[in-house]
Amino acid sequence: MERLTNISTVRGILSRHGFTFSKALGQNFLINPSVCPRMADSAVTDDNTGVLEIGPGIGVLTNELCTRAKKVVAVELDRRLIPVLGETLGEYDNLKVVNADVMELDLNKLIAEEFPDMRVAVCANLPYYITSPILMKLLEDRLPVESITVMVQKEAALRLCAEEGARESSAITCAVRYYAAPELLFHVSAGSFMPAPKVDSAVIRLTLREPEYKPLDEKLMFRIIKAAFSQRRKTVLNAIASGMSLDKRELSGILESAGVAETARAEKLTLRDFAQIADAMDAIKKGGNDG
Ligand code: SAM
Repeated sequence: MERLTNISTVRGILSRHGFTFSKALGQNFLINPSVCPRMADSAVTDDNTGVLEIGPGIGVLTNELCTRAKKVVAVELDRRLIPVLGETLGEYDNLKVVNADVMELDLNKLIAEEFPDMRVAVCANLPYYITSPILMKLLEDRLPVESITVMVQKEAALRLCAEEGARESSAITCAVRYYAAPELLFHVSAGSFMPAPKVDSAVIRLTLREPEYKPLDEKLMFRIIKAAFSQRRKTVLNAIASGMSLDKRELSGILESAGVAETARAEKLTLRDFAQIADAMDAIKKGGNDG
């Protein structure tokens, strides 16, 4: 196979297929030869691993995954890239390309059908316009996957991997930490892509795990988290009260019974704090209904 990190090779393939990059689909293809092998090594732990790739582009990462994994299923939205992938990766019989929008797919069904008896990993150079929705779908769908190794914008990587209590933490940091242990693997410069984006990137790995603290009502906890971070400069009392249209006096009692200082800012709260606020709110709601 021709080297898919060689700029003139890539230009040749793309011009043969009359392909032009779509900014709207986040098409920045990797041309730094050291990045994809490292990502694939992080995703594929043994030769019984099945890999779900999102957005294979012309197949530069897919190629590395196919040489390591038992099977690769690559979901690509852009129909124009399907014949390109046929040319670049036609030699692999452990690859299936699916022309679809990953957001529209039932990934639990796809994994059950495509990777029976395999350990499963997700690996992707994500389209940046849709990073958070894709990650939230992968996490909230509770897929039977061991890890998610993805390239994202550097700022997103810092947010996603922020420690609890760090300035960069946000609602998505909490969501990620609820479902997974995040780690930042390495940085990637903007010049590693064609065309080069305006910002640098980083590769992160999320190792999925059972939540450490489970509230009775997860949805309620995530509503509280969203409200608390939506006005992050305010105290949690003010931010949650205004974000959820709650009476401040009642909320103050809830925070007290959860053991959370009402003057704290959202970023200082741990997941355990948010779970306890949700449970205290739940208890009051139920008490109210009973009485
Ligand atoms: N993996 C290739 C690489 O590293 O060079 C391409 C990565 S490029 C950043 C993102 C890819 O995701 C593009 O091929 C784009 O067409 C595809 N894509 C964008 N939105 C998508 C979606 N909703 N579902 C599936 N693929 C999508």
